[in-house]
Amino acid sequence: SSTQINRAALTPMMQHYIEMKEQYPHAVMLYRLGDFFEAFFEDAELIARELELVLTGRDGGKAIGRIAMAGIPHHALDRYANQLVEKGYAIAVCDQMESAAEAQGLVRREVTRVITPGTVIEEGMLAAKQNNFLAAIANSGDNWGLACTDISTGEFIVTQLTSAEHLIQELLRLQPAEILIPIDIPNPQMFRGSKAEKSSTLWEGIASQKKSSLPAPYDRLPDSFCYTPRSQSAFALAEAKQRIFDTFRVKSLEGFGCAALPLAIRAAGGILEYLESTQKSVKMPLQGISTYAIADYLILDSQTRRNLEITQTVRDGTFYSSLLWALDKTSTGMGSRALRRWLLQPLKDITAINERLDTISELAKKHSLRKELRRCLSQIYDIERLCSRIGAGTANGRDLIAVAMSLERMRDVSDVVVESRSSHLQALQSVPSELLQLGSQLQNTLIEEPPIYITEGNLIRNGVNAQLDQMRQQSRDDVEWLASFEKQEKERTGINTLKVGFNKAFGYYISISRGKSEQAPADYIRKQTLTNEERYITPELKERETRILNADQELKQLEYDLFVELRSLAAKQIEPMRILANALAAADVLCSLAEVAVTYNYSRPEIKGDRTLSITNGRHPVVEQSLPAGFFVPNSVHLGYEDDRQNPDLIVLTGPNMSGKSIYLRQVGLIQLMAQVGSFVPAEAATLGICDRIFTRVGAVDDLATGQSTFMVEMNETANILNHAKVNSLVLLDEIGRGTSTFDGMAIAWSVAEYLAQQIKARAIFATHYHELNELASLLPNVANFQVTVKEMEDEIIFLHQVQSGGADRSYGIEVGRLAGLPTTVINRAKQVLEHIARNSHIATGLRSGNDSTTKPKDQRSPDKSKPPKTQMNIFE
Ligand code: ADP
Repeated sequence: SSTQINRAALTPMMQHYIEMKEQYPHAVMLYRLGDFFEAFFEDAELIARELELVLTGRDGGKAIGRIAMAGIPHHALDRYANQLVEKGYAIAVCDQMESAAEAQGLVRREVTRVITPGTVIEEGMLAAKQNNFLAAIANSGDNWGLACTDISTGEFIVTQLTSAEHLIQELLRLQPAEILIPIDIPNPQMFRGSKAEKSSTLWEGIASQKKSSLPAPYDRLPDSFCYTPRSQSAFALAEAKQRIFDTFRVKSLEGFGCAALPLAIRAAGGILEYLESTQKSVKMPLQGISTYAIADYLILDSQTRRNLEITQTVRDGTFYSSLLWALDKTSTGMGSRALRRWLLQPLKDITAINERLDTISELAKKHSLRKELRRCLSQIYDIERLCSRIGAGTANGRDLIAVAMSLERMRDVSDVVVESRSSHLQALQSVPSELLQLGSQLQNTLIEEPPIYITEGNLIRNGVNAQLDQMRQQSRDDVEWLASFEKQEKERTGINTLKVGFNKAFGYYISISRGKSEQAPADYIRKQTLTNEERYITPELKERETRILNADQELKQLEYDLFVELRSLAAKQIEPMRILANALAAADVLCSLAEVAVTYNYSRPEIKGDRTLSITNGRHPVVEQSLPAGFFVPNSVHLGYEDDRQNPDLIVLTGPNMSGKSIYLRQVGLIQLMAQVGSFVPAEAATLGICDRIFTRVGAVDDLATGQSTFMVEMNETANILNHAKVNSLVLLDEIGRGTSTFDGMAIAWSVAEYLAQQIKARAIFATHYHELNELASLLPNVANFQVTVKEMEDEIIFLHQVQSGGADRSYGIEVGRLAGLPTTVINRAKQVLEHIARNSHIATGLRSGNDSTTKPKDQRSPDKSKPPKTQMNIFE
């Protein structure tokens, strides 16, 4: 409902403001008034709150009276805009198009920029090591289209997903800064979750509309993102197709691989329309659309990404101590971004994995090749982002010099990899000659250290342009003339201290100290009197001045024109430059992985098409790095080998708390993941089949944010795993059933393990402190028991962190309690209680008999059922 306002009774400026604001209802409008950008109404309250500014007021006219206002100095716009965007707000900058002096009546104002979280291009607002994605979603039933772009690099990817869950997982992987959703509402505004809470009304008295959550079907999406509603029409198939044709100058979608994916096309259309409406003056050039399918990659759900601590740690969410931290020795921002992408999207294609492994092999073997290549890479700038700035016409002189220097370095890179055999290095062996030419041209044209601004001259070398050289000569002549004029006037007046000076307000002048001022000749015209000096001009000097100043202006203009021409020339080479940037990014990642592989003695995994998961003396890549060398105890695992049922599918892993169960679990997951990324792995040897998914349920991280009980979260996650795991999945479960009573917990743990081993037959490691689960191995042929060993001393245990076959028969919980400092009285009493319970418990017997009658093992892949399962467990000996 909106209160009717008599707009005619607003001040003219306020009328204009509201007209503008209505065009950008989802954005905070910053409206230029003199030296300030002001926000009004609710926008004023919002920025006063978010930026800690003083809230003032202003008369809005008879209709409305005094309205809220808050402002920022115009020169501080970028800094404040940055803060607002980081908080998830969009900003429409409405600037003055003429000065108040020029204006007849109301000063003309227009929206010159719309800055939104997903469309920032300002260098200071972008993290070098991370993509800044803008996403759009289209929906039909439970099918979803997803398009995602990073305008700072020009990447543009699309896919289609068959469930909301898959969509959410992709969003969580990509972490877009802003998500566009097609919903028509009369006053669209941004929806956001916890990140930033926008007021529910646009502004009091003019419009008010309560919107707290997204409408269906988007209400299922996580509220940790920033959503921007857009008109549905941009997402219509025909309109979307046309936009793609126009933007990329193509006539068919076949080349992009999305011709048969209408929802992906519609989402892409939504993005393109948004870019049109937000990128007013600068249009960032996009690369062509690339279509992907999540099934082409190893799927890691958000749970697993979190538990395996791929890009951040579980405990405090920091990059430090994550897998990315342990592996990132890249030399460029491009490489760093690529490594992050690779780790979050490991491959399933054996050939592609082996191509990466081959390259790492070569780089690991040839020390000087690796060293030289890394040295060259460290001198290469972020070509990927520079390309976008060149294409958008925002690149300055320094940017072009950075491109030139990078291209120059490419000659060295090519030399370094000239004899390489592996495909990722061969890609760098020849640089397109157009690029080398461009590099030379940039270098020969631009001054070595040009200024940031391209309107101030000092950009172009001498000898590049005859007219420029001539103008510069003229300007030198003028300087000379001024010197000789000064000399001549000194002689003429006999005043030794006479000087010719310049300032912005008066131009050139002759300065004579006050004491000598009576000696000034009659033709001197007094212009300004200061405490110690008098300033004069002469007609001759003024005449020169006009010429000098005009010439200076012309010179700057010419340099600017020459620069823009050069930049357009560079813009023509964006395509090959981007291909080069991708090749460099891949090489950088592979160098980094090779460096880590050599430093920490990793080995090349053998990748197979079957279900083998065999790791000999594996280590946890991060924990290993944080311990002194040699302290980490390596452990092996052999799962899922089918030929002769030699290895189990499911391992029940027991061992006391703190013995190393979860580290072992994660280490197996990380090694599998790293292998599919195409990296060497921290192990003596590894033979690994391709997994379709890795599932983890590790530890009990309290999910306070969702308000669910730990046990409920645990059960949700377990249900998700049991419903989605397949025979080619890897499942890592830690302490299922801990959040409830012992009997419930044990019962659930038992049946989950049984289901995994019998029904799904996924490869799995099941860490538990219920040693009763060891019984499973005697019932199911593809289950084996392992334990993390401890050494028992008198009243003390020592953690060996060694995984061995066999089940632990006790949990040492009380010993761990002692280590933690529980009082001796409590420890002794606990021992008594334990003894009592153990004497009176029939849990294990109960489980055994219950199982006998209901769940006989039916393992088709194991014809040899007569073989006593216990003998299958000595694989580490
Ligand atoms: P659990 O899951 O059994 O309670 P964790 O896996 O959390 O135990 O390991 C406890 C601690 O033991 C870790 O913080 C680590 O410092 C150490 N640890 C675990 N595994 C190893 C290992 N293989 N080598 C050396 N130290 C280890």
